[in-house]
Amino acid sequence: MKLSKYYLPTLKDLSDDVQMPSHKLMLRAGLMRNLSAGIFSWLPAGWNVMKNIMEILRDEMEQIDAIEFHLPALNPKDIWDSTGRVEAFGDNMFHIKNRENLVLAPTHEEIMAYHAKQHVNSYKDLPMVWYQIQSKFRNEPRPRSGVLRGRQFFMKDAYSLDSSFEGLDISYEKQYNAYKSIFDRCGIKYFVVGASSGAMGGSKSQEFMVENEFGEDVCAVSESGDAQNLEVATSVVSKVGRIENEDKIEEFATPNSKSINDLITDFKLDEMRCAKSLIYIVENKPILILMRGNDELVEEKLTAVLGTGKHRPADDKELLEFTGANAGSIGPVNLKTKMRILADNLLQNSNGLYAGANKNGFHYKNIDLKRDVTDIEYFDFRKVNAGEISPFDGKPIRIVNAIELGHIFKLGTKYSDSLGAKILDENGKEKPIVMGSYGIGVERIMACYIEQNHDENGIIWNGELSPFDLHIIALNPKKSTEVRELSEKLYQSLCASYLKPIYDDRDVSVGIKFKDADLLGVPYQIVIGSKGLDKNEIELKNRATGEKQSINISDIEIDDLVEDLILELDL
Ligand code: ATP
Ligand code: MG
Repeated sequence: MKLSKYYLPTLKDLSDDVQMPSHKLMLRAGLMRNLSAGIFSWLPAGWNVMKNIMEILRDEMEQIDAIEFHLPALNPKDIWDSTGRVEAFGDNMFHIKNRENLVLAPTHEEIMAYHAKQHVNSYKDLPMVWYQIQSKFRNEPRPRSGVLRGRQFFMKDAYSLDSSFEGLDISYEKQYNAYKSIFDRCGIKYFVVGASSGAMGGSKSQEFMVENEFGEDVCAVSESGDAQNLEVATSVVSKVGRIENEDKIEEFATPNSKSINDLITDFKLDEMRCAKSLIYIVENKPILILMRGNDELVEEKLTAVLGTGKHRPADDKELLEFTGANAGSIGPVNLKTKMRILADNLLQNSNGLYAGANKNGFHYKNIDLKRDVTDIEYFDFRKVNAGEISPFDGKPIRIVNAIELGHIFKLGTKYSDSLGAKILDENGKEKPIVMGSYGIGVERIMACYIEQNHDENGIIWNGELSPFDLHIIALNPKKSTEVRELSEKLYQSLCASYLKPIYDDRDVSVGIKFKDADLLGVPYQIVIGSKGLDKNEIELKNRATGEKQSINISDIEIDDLVEDLILELDL
C-alpha cells in the first residue's frame, strides 16, 4: 500500500474523555473510529489487524478439527424463548420493533443446538466442534473503554458436541489448550480463572483474563499465578467456630447502633461474632443471608446457590414488613415472617453471636446458630479480601482488575434438552447431545495486545498481528529521483513477495513520517533518504527496540535484498 493512496487518518491529540491507552492508540493510529456509543468502524489498517487475529483463531480452531460455520445475526425469537434466554438476557438482547418474531443474537448456543438437532443423529457422528467468527449484538448498558465493550462486536464462538460427559471433558481440554496457543501467538500475557457460569448454565467454566486497571472483572491472584474470579474466589480464613458460652439468648438495647461498626464501637464487641443479616427477595419471597462481621456478599455466589439470578435486596418497606424492623436491627432469630435462612460457611455452627433482634433499637447476644436457628443452610457467600491467604499456595492474595478475553464453558445438556437435540447411543437409546461453548472477543484481543505493547510514541506490533510487514519511509521523495526510484523498486519487490509493505511516499515532512511510522507501529521501518544513498546506505529500524542498522546496498540487487530481509527478520 502506498500511503498517498491509503486511508490512515492519524491524530495528534484526543479529547480527555478517552482514557484507556489502547483506545487512544487505536484512534490516534487511524485504526478505528467511533460511530456511536459502543459501535465502531474499522478503518483499513485496523481491519488488517482484525483479519490477522481471525487468521490465528481459524488456524488454531482448525488444528483441533473445529469446522467453520457462519450463522445469521438475525434469529427467530421462539428458539431463544425455548431455552428461557430471552428472559435471561433481558435488556441486553436487542429486539426488533417492526419484526417482532426476530431478535439480534448475543451468542449462538441455541442456533448451533438447533442445527445439531436437524442432522446429528447418532453417537457415531460425534464428537464434533462447530465454530464461527461473527458479529454479536448486545445492548450493553455502559459501553466504555472503546472496543472492549461494544454493542456490536466480533466473537469467535465454538461449540463442542459430544455423546458423553467424558467426551465433553476431552473437547473442553482441547479448547483450553487452543486458547493458550491463541493468546501465546498473539503475544498476550494472561491468566486463567475459575468463573461463575451466570446465565449460561452448565457445570465448569474458566475465563482467560488480562490484568488491567480498566478491566471490569475483579480477580484474586495468588503469587504462584493461580487465580479466581472474585465471583467464585475463596481464601483460607478461620471459621468463627464455638466458644464456651451456654448462656441463653438475651436482648439488649442498641438505640444508637445502626451498623456493625457502631455495634463494635458502642459495646466493644468482637467483629467476628457480630453477624450481619441481609434480606433478599427471590421470586417475591424474602430470604435472609447471614454474614460474618463486615464480610461482603458476592451476588454471583448467591445466584449459583439459588439457581436463579432473579434476586434483589429488599427495600426499606419490605424489610419492615418481613422482619418487623428496619435495617440495622435485623437478625435470624424472632423474624416476623418465616423465611429461608442461608449463612456463610464461616459462621457454620458458631455460637456467642450478636445479631439484630428484629425489633428497632435492639440486638440479641449469645446466639447459638446450632441451638437457636433451625433449618439454617451454609454456603460460601463471602467476598475475598486482598492479603487473605490463597488456597493455592498459602501466600497472600492480590486483588486485581482484569479484562475477560475468553470464556470456556461445559454446558452439559441444557441447550440440547431444551431444543431436543438428541442422538442414539451405542445401545440404541436416545440421549441429549452434551455441549460445550467457547468464546473469544476479537476486538478484546487487539485492545489487550495494545495495552501490553506500546510506548509513548505508539503501538508496537509483533509479526503476527501487525497490519503490515514493513514500513518503507521515503525521505523527501519529491526532491530526489534517486530516493523515489529506490523506494519504489523496494516497494514493488516486497509486493511481489508474500509480504505486505506500507510505503510512505507522501510529500510531507520527515518528522511527520517518523511520527506516523512509530504510531502505527509496524515491527520494522526501512528509511531511504538522499544522505544515506550518497553512501549507498539505507536504514533499518526495529520499532520495538529503536535499534537502527545501516544496510549497504552498493553490490546488491533489490530482489536479493528483499530475500535477505525476509531471512534476517524472520518475516
Ligand atoms: P463480560 O462479562 O465482559 O460482559 P461476557 O461474560 O458477557 O463478558 P461471554 O458471553 O462469555 O462474555 O462472551 C465471550 C467473549 O466475548 C468474552 O470473553 C469477551 O471476550 C467477548 N465479549 C463479550 N461481550 C463483549 C462486548 N460487549 N464487547 C466486546 N467483546 C465482548
Ligand atoms: Mg456480558
